[in-house]
Amino acid sequence: MTRTTTGAFGHPYRAIPGPSVMPERVLRAMHRGAPDIYKGELHDLVARLCDDLRAVAQTGGGVAMYIGNGHAAWEASAANLFVRGDRVLVPAAGLFGLTWAGHLRGMGVEAEVIASARGLPVDPGQVEAALRADGEGRIRAVMATHVDTATSLRTDLAALRAAIDAAGHPALLVADCIASLACDEFRMDAWGVDVALAASQKGLMTPPGMCFLWVGERAREAGRRPGGGAGQGAGLRTPHWAWEPRIEGAEFSQRFNGTAPTHHLYGLAEALEMILREEGLARVWARHERLAGMVWAAFEAWGQGHPQIAMLVGDPAHRGRSVTAAQLDDGARLRAWLEQEAGVTLGVGLGMASAADPQASGFLRVAHMGHVNTHMTLGVLAAMEAGMTALSIPHGPGALDAAARAAGR
Ligand SMILES: *Cc1c(COP(=O)(O)O)cnc(C)c1O
Repeated sequence: MTRTTTGAFGHPYRAIPGPSVMPERVLRAMHRGAPDIYKGELHDLVARLCDDLRAVAQTGGGVAMYIGNGHAAWEASAANLFVRGDRVLVPAAGLFGLTWAGHLRGMGVEAEVIASARGLPVDPGQVEAALRADGEGRIRAVMATHVDTATSLRTDLAALRAAIDAAGHPALLVADCIASLACDEFRMDAWGVDVALAASQKGLMTPPGMCFLWVGERAREAGRRPGGGAGQGAGLRTPHWAWEPRIEGAEFSQRFNGTAPTHHLYGLAEALEMILREEGLARVWARHERLAGMVWAAFEAWGQGHPQIAMLVGDPAHRGRSVTAAQLDDGARLRAWLEQEAGVTLGVGLGMASAADPQASGFLRVAHMGHVNTHMTLGVLAAMEAGMTALSIPHGPGALDAAARAAGR
């Protein structure tokens, strides 16, 4: 692209919710020749990685790794848990839950969606009621998105578990943590999550290309149900997606059903070293909390007296810590200005309106996930303020002061 201005030259920052900013160290760890996949160092590395992945999800469950993105994690979990015709409940607080439900239907699973109004969480009471109404226990799982990357709404997973238990229902709790893992606090075992899903390119600070399933005992048991045959519907488990060989296969090659994603594994090991042993998981969560607080403080100020600027999730208790979605009239113009004049790329609004709808351009998302710190987030906010000023987009004063104060909290 030919630029007529100079403001964008320098280090670009893609503040989009995945792929996130990757540490140079992670990229350097990947810059090497091919390792031996049959013995030695790589096998030790994978054993260590499984322990680290368990630690990052706070679980003692099994870990299955796949070459694939987040959608592959959706498919992998469904393939192991369900047979065609099974029913699941999808509490959807935004686009990702709806898309997930569509994906499940595409695999032959009957997905019943309980959707909330934009910016509001799904009421766990509704989930409980739907489970109580399922007297025959046909619903096999509740499939919840931890942080919806489109609205930035965070779902209280422990409250969903409590709703399932209150209904006395055997449904499993499956959590899509793709946008939240290693950003938002997540405690798989303590919160009663049976299966958690994530991908490499968001909080885990590694290039896209790997996804992960953490599988608790009850889910592994459910996955042993025979599929196919008379009366049992068509099994969805195929050799490539089957999680047991990946969790506990006797042969190393079973862990990836073939060649391992060798270089991703080196990058991931470096990222987990940084997350778990250098910064520490609690501090990683605290850093994202603080960065999110800075962004929220700025939006609050911009929106004072200017209701056309507003975060989609009004209540901070329900906001994810990795991304902030907002309505901002002229959002598309502001995004273009930031890219061309400031070297900052913000996320587009997702699922807010159809492309033909004039409202579609009035949304944007600021990501603050992964290898991001105070100066980067303050820089994005200051650049946004500069863009709004340059484009004469009306906004309330004091956003940068408010963000700076939040940074010092
Ligand atoms: C990014 C994301 C996905 C999809 O991941 P891909 O790697 O793009 O397939 C699914 N769910 C959530 C919550 C996400 O943030």
